[in-house]
Amino acid sequence: MSKNVVMVGAGVANVNAATKLIDNGFDGKITIIDMGKDPYLRPYEEVMTGFLGAGGWSDGKLTYHTSIGGQLSKYCGEEKAMELFDQVIDNFKRFHPKPEEVQCSNPIAEPDFIKPYFGLRLFPVWHVGTDYLHEIGKNWYDFLVDGGVEFHWEHKVIDIDFDNQELIAVCENPKLSLQCKYDKLIFGVGKSGIDFGKQLAEKYDLPTEPKPVQIGVRFEAPQKHFQKLIDISYDFKLYRKYEDKGVSLRSFCTNNNAAYVAVEETYGNHSYNGHAKKDEAFRNDMTNFGILMEVQGIDKPFDWSRDVVKKLQANGTGLYYSPKYTRQPSNTSEGNKVSSKQIGIDTLSHVVEPAMEGYFKYIIHFIEDMKKVFPTLEDDWGIYIPEVKYLSPEPLVNYEDLSLTKYPNIHFVGDALSARGITVSGAQGTYVAETLLEN
Ligand SMILES: Cc1cc2nc3c(=O)[nH]c(=O)nc-3n(C[C@H](O)[C@H](O)[C@H](O)COP(=O)(O)OP(=O)(O)OC[C@H]3O[C@@H](n4cnc5c(N)ncnc54)[C@H](O)[C@@H]3O)c2cc1C
Repeated sequence: MSKNVVMVGAGVANVNAATKLIDNGFDGKITIIDMGKDPYLRPYEEVMTGFLGAGGWSDGKLTYHTSIGGQLSKYCGEEKAMELFDQVIDNFKRFHPKPEEVQCSNPIAEPDFIKPYFGLRLFPVWHVGTDYLHEIGKNWYDFLVDGGVEFHWEHKVIDIDFDNQELIAVCENPKLSLQCKYDKLIFGVGKSGIDFGKQLAEKYDLPTEPKPVQIGVRFEAPQKHFQKLIDISYDFKLYRKYEDKGVSLRSFCTNNNAAYVAVEETYGNHSYNGHAKKDEAFRNDMTNFGILMEVQGIDKPFDWSRDVVKKLQANGTGLYYSPKYTRQPSNTSEGNKVSSKQIGIDTLSHVVEPAMEGYFKYIIHFIEDMKKVFPTLEDDWGIYIPEVKYLSPEPLVNYEDLSLTKYPNIHFVGDALSARGITVSGAQGTYVAETLLEN
């Protein structure tokens, strides 16, 4: 019986799950608890928390391929995964104030000029635009409230009693606490709740699947240097492998035209990401993207990444390096400098390289090869250090409904499970909602 569904996190995954339930006349109670704010009150600087979670303030690129953005087809198969992606993309269009402006880029062939240095991943991407995401959020939220969903904002869930099917959430201001029973719980806390997920996994000794390390930098340069490739693939993903070393690198999450670097705060440390605005008023003609390494074979990859990120902090923030000393960290879309400490080549060699335990050289190789492929680039670039994807060990779930193998009434979804992007997270939420409706 699943009449009382409680969702922890109002991120992309759970918002899509709730939408699926309401669209299909679910007659139980749906409660969503989030430590952030509703879309009317959520300020720009709260990048990770609040309605639609990290997806609500992201660069709004909806990738449409099962090999991008984390795991989905492994649970439900290719065909079902694509059908779930369609549902997520339809939702974003449905609540978009100007759905006709959502465009798809779909490169079909690798251009010769990037060979032999790089491969290019080819897949379609729907572009929503960060600025529209705020409006989408409000429309979507109103729909869910009208559909009867009960939201508790600014409540942080601090404990879940899996055995008694009960959770406790606290609100700091005003001081309140909420105790809540559930029949079914959907756990979608995203990256901002990754430490809480880990804590629960330890407390309940949940079996997990190991994950590789993903760490690197956010690269930024004037867009003109990459225009030739952007014309073919807006959100290009270059990749190369060093098979013998168990390292593969890829460019990740490319932003163009109105491209801004964003600071992510996880565990009190700074790392970087990026987003793109659609409104012409924000145009800065910059390109930014992650250069991420996937490293196999590291013992305790989650702890290793956290330790590396800690070593890459200075003055309470991350680092910025450019070989062209006149190039500085750029401005955010709100006109402030991207928080970072500018470093020179010495710190790069004596702090960054040892912190990354010999792996940083692969990033430098990647950049050197980009200089060959994009000859005008030369030294006209900067990197924000680090960018990291904390892939905590994935809790072992039943593939048919993403419920924990030890607790079948608790479902893990989104970045808290194995997703790394909006479409996959939303699709995992939708997938779980479908199973609740079936039952
Ligand atoms: C700057 C930035 C840009 C991005 N750009 C893109 C992009 O263009 N395309 C793409 O596919 N992906 C992008 N991503 C990744 C994407 O946003 C995430 O993969 C996606 O939002 C994950 O969805 P989710 O529902 O799992 O978690 P989230 O959307 O992160 O939501 C999790 C929610 O849980 C809440 N929460 C956490 N812990 C607790 C707790 N203990 N109690 C109560 N509430 C809690 C948080 O407040 C948050 O609202 C970007 C991420 C960032 C940070």
